[in-house]
Amino acid sequence: MAINDLPKYKDIRGSIRRNGRYPVVGTAIKDTHVVHHSMTAQHLKGSTPQAFANTHIDTNKWPGIAYAFVIMPDGTIYQCDDLDRRTYHAGDINTRSIGTCLVGDFRKEGAAEKPTAEQMQSLYLLNKELYKVLSNMKITLGHQECPGYAWKNCPGDTWNYKDVISGKILISEKKEEPKVAERDIDKVSDWAKKDWEEAIANGYFDGTRPGSPFTREEAAIVINRLRKNLLELISK
Ligand SMILES: [Zn+2]
Repeated sequence: MAINDLPKYKDIRGSIRRNGRYPVVGTAIKDTHVVHHSMTAQHLKGSTPQAFANTHIDTNKWPGIAYAFVIMPDGTIYQCDDLDRRTYHAGDINTRSIGTCLVGDFRKEGAAEKPTAEQMQSLYLLNKELYKVLSNMKITLGHQECPGYAWKNCPGDTWNYKDVISGKILISEKKEEPKVAERDIDKVSDWAKKDWEEAIANGYFDGTRPGSPFTREEAAIVINRLRKNLLELISK
């Protein structure tokens, strides 16, 4: 697997607006993955990598979008720049880090959004993949944990990115398979019993009908066995 094999991956490096290029520093120096939020509400028109690129170019006068990756609320992972570039997203550690931005305002005092399940899934997978692709990767940080950024509420305080990176959230939110309750088994075997009883009433088991497969006693055994099999099935 490679990054471009990730589900919902889209490469927009060739089409996203730039004003020059960020310098190439190589991938060997990259040892940190930094997680950001866009601080723009998810439904806003401006919550796209293209809009972030415009702001970073026009307002900040940077060569392009700050983030190598942007993850949309539907889980789409846009790759916006190469892994070997020094983009401006984390101050002193720009050279050694890769920046990923989740679209949304995840501040309690802001829009108080939370990443969608799709976004968390994509972040989990992307982060895992970066450690495979970049041989010197050591740590994943929230923007706020980067040197000099303690003041910045990024990637927001409505969630904990560490629970996503570790897979904890994904595991705890995984939907439990609905267990068939024992009373449902009883219902099923009741239906079966009714069918058998009807068959019995119609003379299937007393030898009065041609092709009758079981005696009444045998029919009772079959019903009990069915119930037992179903119970065994759900206890697995
Ligand atoms: Zn940030």
